[in-house]
Amino acid sequence: RRNDQSTLLIQIIPYGEGQKLVLSRDITQLQRLESMRRDFVANVSHELRTPLTVIRGFLETMEDGLEDFDAGQIRHFLALASEQAGRMQRLIEDLLSLSALETGAPDPVEEDIRVGDLLEDVRDEALLLSAGRHRVELVMGGDATLRGSRKELQSALANLASNAVRYTPEGGAISLEWGCDKHGGIFAVCDTGIGIAAEHLPRLTERFYRVDRGRSRDSGGTGLGLAIVKHVLSRHQAELQVESTPGEGSCFTVRLPARRVRPLRASP
Ligand code: ADP
Repeated sequence: RRNDQSTLLIQIIPYGEGQKLVLSRDITQLQRLESMRRDFVANVSHELRTPLTVIRGFLETMEDGLEDFDAGQIRHFLALASEQAGRMQRLIEDLLSLSALETGAPDPVEEDIRVGDLLEDVRDEALLLSAGRHRVELVMGGDATLRGSRKELQSALANLASNAVRYTPEGGAISLEWGCDKHGGIFAVCDTGIGIAAEHLPRLTERFYRVDRGRSRDSGGTGLGLAIVKHVLSRHQAELQVESTPGEGSCFTVRLPARRVRPLRASP
């Protein structure tokens, strides 16, 4: 045994006269994958069951005595049930995106993307979600074209921007930044929100990992956003870095390799 963390499968097979063949296989990785799969199935089931329980509860309450409620109460129940149905739908959409990215999706489409256009779209989505509760600004350190999948990169950046909006109290500010240096391109999505304590940072991109389950759920989160971001970025050989101070805010930085970035000169 090389270390205590590993699991070996030992097989002793008789062969020939008075001889045995000993086979030793390191199945640590296999076991780890199997346990990840079990956790994932348990998590998905739990995430789907919670909203479903709420929907069933409302349906049963109304079935049992529709005449006991007035139209206003019924409308209220329906609105709450519909909110839970929305949650299930978002979860399933995120699961499908994640599985499309994970299970041997073809390489990302290689198209030319204007960074300025891309970030303007992301900003517009953030403004819509914020509905006037935050300042959202775009800081462009020059424009550039990127090689990659516009759909995937926009979904990754929109996920980061949506988190910035959802984890920043009203009145806060969000900035979407772009710059490039000799190592490549850098996107940053920064907020003046609730921040994240250091011990959570290494686990943020795990599926269903949340710092505050209640807050994530109340703001429409599925716990899969950053897992999707991580996959999209690794498909583009890009990296995610997170810096955060609780109570002050967070900065999620994406570094794209130089070969995917072509800076554009500003027109005179
Ligand atoms: P969720 O759907 O829960 O937002 P994500 O995968 O997008 O899932 O993010 C995982 C967790 O990371 C969130 O639940 C939240 O606790 C934390 N988080 C992500 N972005 C931010 C941010 N900008 N500020 C504070 N916490 C954040």
